Amino acid sequence: MIKSSYKSERGVQISLSVCKKMFVTLCFALALFGYTEAKYKSTLGKIDRSTWPYKINSASEFDFASAMEMLVFAQEINRAEQITNVDSLKSYLRLKSVKRESVDNYITFVKKRLVQNFRHIKIDKEQQRVVLGTVNNWSNLLDEANNLEQKLPASMIAWYNQARQFYASYVYEQFRLAALFPRITSEILTLDNTEINGSRFDDKQFLLTFDDGPTVNGGNTDKLISLLKQNGKTGLFFVLGNNLKTRLDKSGTNNVNNLYRDMLVGSHSRVHKAHPRYKNWRQALDYTDSLINSALNRECVYFRPPYGQRNTAIINHLKKDNTQVMLWNIDSQDWNSKIKSAEVSDRVLTLMLVWRKGILLFHDIHSKSRFTLPKLWKDLEGSGVIWMDDIY
Ligand SMILES: [Zn+2]
Repeated sequence: MIKSSYKSERGVQISLSVCKKMFVTLCFALALFGYTEAKYKSTLGKIDRSTWPYKINSASEFDFASAMEMLVFAQEINRAEQITNVDSLKSYLRLKSVKRESVDNYITFVKKRLVQNFRHIKIDKEQQRVVLGTVNNWSNLLDEANNLEQKLPASMIAWYNQARQFYASYVYEQFRLAALFPRITSEILTLDNTEINGSRFDDKQFLLTFDDGPTVNGGNTDKLISLLKQNGKTGLFFVLGNNLKTRLDKSGTNNVNNLYRDMLVGSHSRVHKAHPRYKNWRQALDYTDSLINSALNRECVYFRPPYGQRNTAIINHLKKDNTQVMLWNIDSQDWNSKIKSAEVSDRVLTLMLVWRKGILLFHDIHSKSRFTLPKLWKDLEGSGVIWMDDIY
């Protein structure tokens, strides 16, 4: 049941945007839906990192790769920002209605963040394959972005062509989420300043999070946690109350406590439903909170809304229990059948280089993270990336 709901994680949002049309002109709308979904899926951001000709295993190499990714991202943000006409924006995003203000908020957020990120860039002479000017503001950054192509050595052209495509898709993904916000909330923007999305972490701090578990005894959650422990890493597991209850009933309290020892646990509510439209959300939140308290003997301090969808009533209800909403900023897309494990790893590494800190979203009910993470850890050895074992 959960698996099938996940197949349409973003599809749910697409179907919502066209559902009114489906009632009015069913045939037309079905055709449109098919077209929209197919186009959307085909534009999911993927990149082949084998085109990047250097390693990332030092702070300087990380910064060089990071600067290059940010500049291509900036090019695409700038291109999409030029779509100022609302009808053109609707057509670009294939949406019936767009919230321009949210798109603008997102653009402002990205610009500020990229300029901040650039202040951390320190590239040694040996890694200066592209000489960059000083970046103090968005205008400086955009100048660097616009001049990038002509400065690139031949060895970086294959990567550049991949990166252009990746950021075109990624900016489309992100603008689409922003344009739907807050009619359909998601990780794209915060609703309240208590929400955590990793933007207050220090440079190069990353938190691994895993949603929707636990699986049955010996299943993927167990295998994933073994892998994390073997590698001295910690994950924050957002458990679904119903899955936790099933596991407790079948395997017992000791088994579940052993499973999550040295790991962090948060709530993903009781059921995987979009809570703003779910009438029993209060009971669902309280159920999982109590279960984590009683069975795992821990305070539940973080809540991850299913699909990232929440509203202020939900946030305020959580505040009474000292629970904060935790979103994410690096979506691995590991639930998506359209993306293979190697592609998940390449996508996540690229987004880590761009954002330079934050919260990675994976799902422990799927196996892709087990194949993605060892490669990611190895690729980033020596880079200075900090895999967080708690939230400070
Ligand atoms: Zn989920």
